[in-house]
Amino acid sequence: MFYKYNLEDIRDRARAAFIGMAIGDALGATVEFMTATEIASKYGMFKEIIGGGWLRLKPGQVTDDTEMALCIARAIVKSQGWSLRAIADNFAVWLKSRPVDCGDTCRKGIRAYILKGQLESPPNEWDAGNGAAMRLLPAVLFSVPDGELLNRYIIEQAHITHNNPVSDAACLCLGQLLHMSLCGAEKSRLKRHVEGLVSRFPAFAYVPYRGLATGYVVDTMQTVFNWFFRGASFEECMIGTVNQGGDADTTGAICGMLAGSYYGMDSIPRRWIKKMDTRVISEIELTVERLITESPAGRMM
Ligand code: MN
Ligand code: MN
Repeated sequence: MFYKYNLEDIRDRARAAFIGMAIGDALGATVEFMTATEIASKYGMFKEIIGGGWLRLKPGQVTDDTEMALCIARAIVKSQGWSLRAIADNFAVWLKSRPVDCGDTCRKGIRAYILKGQLESPPNEWDAGNGAAMRLLPAVLFSVPDGELLNRYIIEQAHITHNNPVSDAACLCLGQLLHMSLCGAEKSRLKRHVEGLVSRFPAFAYVPYRGLATGYVVDTMQTVFNWFFRGASFEECMIGTVNQGGDADTTGAICGMLAGSYYGMDSIPRRWIKKMDTRVISEIELTVERLITESPAGRMM
């Protein structure tokens, strides 16, 4: 990549991406599995972090999306490098801790690691959920701005649980968008990158937007693309996304990384940050610091 960037700018965008992800998770979880119509009749426009939802969360509590990303982040910090086994070990510890939520494909993959030491799930045409995409951010931060490292990390972490060409395509595209955005690319550039994905996998076309926000990674990414490219601020992107309902914590988490990396820390509403679990936010801040310092961009300085 040939963007001009400075490390402080990357650091700010990285922090905003990770905190934005956690905010999207906590915000969206309240309306997860509701339809857009149900949300509208209950809340008008839903825009505050209040907890509840089908998981009966505390306000600001995060779910598997943020927790699995933190498993990856902690593994990188602890191993002082990329270790797939350390990541899978953290997933295993996390699953045994009886997390508040865990998707079926993630559970199946982690159980296969626990029982057989399997680090790569066999290819499966049905494993096209969004579980590999929702947690990939630490791999993105730790590889910035090296595109080859990015692609390797993204796919390796994905295949622990999801080995599927549609999931892979979504994960790679999302990771690349995040790299570009962290380095300061404009939305027009990011949009062209998504057009590249759509030309290879036409299912990802999001114009006209079909309004589906399920856990199928195609629906998830269409929702994120639609609201990210339509929104004019972090807040607008996020509110549009979660009010779509469906897998709202995960669409919220993914849109949160993208919009956070694009708009930076100053764009994130204070009222949302204040509602978040403070332990989660401080762990995120410490971890992001380490990931960026140890990334190729950090090492070049
Ligand atoms: Mn979740
Ligand atoms: Mn979800």
